Amino acid sequence: MRTLLLNGRIEGAEASDIVIEDGFIAQIIPAGSAQAASTDEVIDLSGQLVLPGFVDGHSHADKSMWGEPWARRHSVDITMDQMFEDTLEQWKLPQSSIKDRARRFLHKSIAAGSTTIRAYADVFPGIDLQGLHAMLELKEELAPLADISVIAFPQLGILRTPGTLDLLEQALKDGADGIGGLDPAAVERDAAQVLDLVFGLAEKYQVTADFHAHEVGELGVWLVERVAERTKALGMAGNVSMCDVFALAEPSAEQFGRLSHAFADAGIAFSIGVHGLLPVPDVKGLHEAGVAMCLGSDSSRSLWSPWGDGDILSRAMMMSYKSYWRTDDDLELAARLATSLGHQALGAAAQQVVTGEVADLVVLPGEAVAEVVVQPVPRSLVLKRGVVVARDGHLVTAAG
Ligand SMILES: [Zn+2]
Repeated sequence: MRTLLLNGRIEGAEASDIVIEDGFIAQIIPAGSAQAASTDEVIDLSGQLVLPGFVDGHSHADKSMWGEPWARRHSVDITMDQMFEDTLEQWKLPQSSIKDRARRFLHKSIAAGSTTIRAYADVFPGIDLQGLHAMLELKEELAPLADISVIAFPQLGILRTPGTLDLLEQALKDGADGIGGLDPAAVERDAAQVLDLVFGLAEKYQVTADFHAHEVGELGVWLVERVAERTKALGMAGNVSMCDVFALAEPSAEQFGRLSHAFADAGIAFSIGVHGLLPVPDVKGLHEAGVAMCLGSDSSRSLWSPWGDGDILSRAMMMSYKSYWRTDDDLELAARLATSLGHQALGAAAQQVVTGEVADLVVLPGEAVAEVVVQPVPRSLVLKRGVVVARDGHLVTAAG
């Protein structure tokens, strides 16, 4: 299969023709010089921007109510207890199956450019492994459109909710790509035991360990340092990640230094939380300290949060807006967190639009990368391994 993309501007550079063969970028040559002979498909990009496929490093597709009738949200308390209540209430609502809801949300995410997605699946007694199995089935079904990995996630805690641990281990036996933890100190009240359990299973099944961490202040800093110790002791650099990490929202200079050192030194990836409630962490400072980072759609249109639509470029915009980033250099960093740096954070090679790289690409109108970060226009094309999977914001394949 040979595809020609004519007259595309790779990350805003000079116009080029891109030759794709069997899913990989075979050649990048000056615009106008590609030979159309023996080519299966020729697409004129008319000078549009070409970016690497987007990375959603934190998707709760299983909780998304995308495409369902609008659900009125009443909860006022912004607490973990309220979130647990909302979670339990949502699972009781009459709604489409987890698989149908998650599929709709993932389709939306992919049509917006995400070609690599890390999805969390709630696991707790009551719903058991329904969500996990639905997500594993979708991982297979949507494989032509996106690389999806699935983390078994104890949304209601492991110690706090007896029975969860056995379900998590079964999830790993059934094929989950990673195991999660939630607020080992603040919610679980026994961080050492939770780290023993999560790292123990991650090591046993050779999978990713991931922690949501909403602990703030010195407790949050202490927790990150404990995760870093375990990561280093087990040689799991590059295979441990942390989401949200509220301790990074408003740290003192001394705490920021300890946090960034712990992440970079242990090789822990940070999935940046962009929350309305809290300041965005100092992402530039973390990047300069060598911390691997990605963006995520997080809990989008769940009963807890009405916000979010699966568009990672919009997350990059929100992060940049809240950080008051104004220069092109900064806005280009935001785009790289959504693309090449995001890939690295998930333990893959930095995916770029270069010869020899897999042809996961996003095409969109605009003059400059910074411009599409501040104004995330609809995506003209999304290609997965050289195949057009979405056009003008809608999936085009049979799977869509
Ligand atoms: Zn999350």
